[in-house]
Amino acid sequence: MTSPLLPTYARADVVFETGEGVWLVARDGQRYLDLGSGIGVNALGYNHPGLLAALGAQGGKLWHISNLFRNPQAERLAQRLVDASFADTVFFTNSGAEALECAIKTARKYHAANGHPERFRLVTFEGAFHGRTLATIAAGGQQKYLEGFGPKVEGFDQVPFGDWDALAAAIGPETAGILIEPVQGEGGIRAVPPQDLRRLRQIADDNGLLLVLDEVQCGIGRTGKLFAHEWAGVTPDIVAIAKGIGGGFPLGASLATREASKGMTLGTHGTTFGGNPLAAAVGNAVLDEILAPGFLEGVQEKAGLFRQRLAELKDAFPDVFEDVRGEGLMLGLKLKVPNTEFVKAALARRLVVIAAGDNVVRLLPPLIIGEAEIGEAVAGLGEVAQTFRAQTLQAEPDAGKADERQAG
Ligand code: PLP
Repeated sequence: MTSPLLPTYARADVVFETGEGVWLVARDGQRYLDLGSGIGVNALGYNHPGLLAALGAQGGKLWHISNLFRNPQAERLAQRLVDASFADTVFFTNSGAEALECAIKTARKYHAANGHPERFRLVTFEGAFHGRTLATIAAGGQQKYLEGFGPKVEGFDQVPFGDWDALAAAIGPETAGILIEPVQGEGGIRAVPPQDLRRLRQIADDNGLLLVLDEVQCGIGRTGKLFAHEWAGVTPDIVAIAKGIGGGFPLGASLATREASKGMTLGTHGTTFGGNPLAAAVGNAVLDEILAPGFLEGVQEKAGLFRQRLAELKDAFPDVFEDVRGEGLMLGLKLKVPNTEFVKAALARRLVVIAAGDNVVRLLPPLIIGEAEIGEAVAGLGEVAQTFRAQTLQAEPDAGKADERQAG
């Protein structure tokens, strides 16, 4: 069947029609356990009563008014984000890439406001993913996303993850800041060790740079803290968020300290839709849950259980799984079999998981996942792994023996 949608995605041939909690229900009535959350978006799962009520209540009043008028819903959401974080100011957007665009512009403008417009470059890291706009593909630096789209936007210097000499060499008189995901998502669920994030903060301070974090995927409770950088105890200058904050409604934001945002004065940036009353009402409803006492501790507990069970799974299938990684409910399974094949096999077993770089399968379940559902997820992943083991045994009978010895 041909589709009028631009064919930039290899879409699985499943139509999900409804959802409930962590379950998606397809048109044929089959139930799928969702360990993807629409790529880390549906933090509260599907049909969450609080989100439905907020959407309904605001939907019956006003959806959109533009940013030419006061917007109490957005002001409240911004205040709550400020109260719960390092930030003093918030700019709302519709997506992660736009949040990054604002973050990048804020960092550049800071130095311009300090009389140094030549300081516009950001150091970024290999394997990073910051979005698909022209500036964010340049920031991510991945050739496959840059190819054919004309000259790469100037001002991004990429260094290998963890190569401190390369980082030092990349910092020069034009450098404005360092941009990094505390936990790389698309790059393969690679967490920056807390001491390394602290070291980046120190390097930024030593060189008069801003520390800009991309928490589009790892923020808003995903790692068991509201922001992933809290695990390292660092105070960033600018943080981009999106995904989870909208709970499925397109919403993002760039958070900054008063100092870092000092160049972003009247007229320097704008958006038609960003943070409109409907989006902000839903964002507030998301925070009602995530900031409720005990919610994040619950995420941490469930994450500990999930990780433990995945480690056992890895031990049981050493021929399929190489490593379990990640932070909180942002988990990755590095595979020894092709991850895209594993994702397909999981879908056939009615488990939704997502491929990432470095041959990793990402597990980003709704944060409301329960212990019983974690058990079902691990059992399902085991069944999927078993199908790969059976294939391996058929192809290479000796390889299976070696693996059995390891598992024993
Ligand atoms: N930054 C990170 C870390 C992401 O994971 C993503 C999306 O996957 C983006 C930025 C871009 O967000 P969006 O697709 O909403 O533009």
